[in-house]
Amino acid sequence: MTGDRREELTRRLAAVRERIDAACVAAGREVGDVALLAVTKTVRASDVAVLLDLGLTSFGENRVQEAGAKVEAVAALRPAATPRWHLVGGLQRNKAVAATRWAERVESVDSVRLADALDVAARRTMDAGDRDGPLSVLLQLSLDGDPERGGVPRTGLGPLAEHVAGCAGLRLDGLMAVAPLGVDPDDAFAAVATAAADLRAAFPQATTLSAGMSGDLEAAIRHGSDVVRVGTALVGDRRLTSR
Ligand SMILES: *Cc1c(COP(=O)(O)O)cnc(C)c1O
Repeated sequence: MTGDRREELTRRLAAVRERIDAACVAAGREVGDVALLAVTKTVRASDVAVLLDLGLTSFGENRVQEAGAKVEAVAALRPAATPRWHLVGGLQRNKAVAATRWAERVESVDSVRLADALDVAARRTMDAGDRDGPLSVLLQLSLDGDPERGGVPRTGLGPLAEHVAGCAGLRLDGLMAVAPLGVDPDDAFAAVATAAADLRAAFPQATTLSAGMSGDLEAAIRHGSDVVRVGTALVGDRRLTSR
């Protein structure tokens, strides 16, 4: 870790925080209303350690295998820290057990089958004493039905929520969405906000809305996002070369 990299991450974090604060003010929301999830996929563990030093506490990963190794590496680098890890990417059911070992929250639940796999895995890790409580879950909403990007279509959201709410190993905490490519993010996040409000009306515990990334966090905050997931703006294009 060179001092230059630490300086760069410090500068980038300050800029991202400024954008979030400015978007809150512009939207008439309290500064500090919106949490920052640092998306650290393909980012080296030493960078995550610096982000922890800089006060970030929550990190998003999108590959179970890469994340498992990184969680261990970060724990070795910063044994006193207590980072919270979220899975934000597509998850195969056979990786559910591995994910529940380190994930405090899975933001990408988009099917009953995946929910069931996570439910079983979470209950198993709870029974083994490796987890204090149910796995926090956000349902990922798809606005365009593109299977590549994951997510449950709007019509499937209610039934999936109903199912997840009935899983003892899972806690339904809200909604996550990625704005589709080529769509005005304001239109996308307006639709997401409506879906989030409907979900909250039926499941009052589902309060969290995770929406907005490096390119569109202002629009997401305008439409009520509570969590922005920021990768590129925070860490640049410095990526792990091998995996
Ligand atoms: C990569 C990723 C992000 C972060 O995207 P950036 O544009 O790099 O900020 C956010 N959410 C999900 C689901 C991602 O896969």
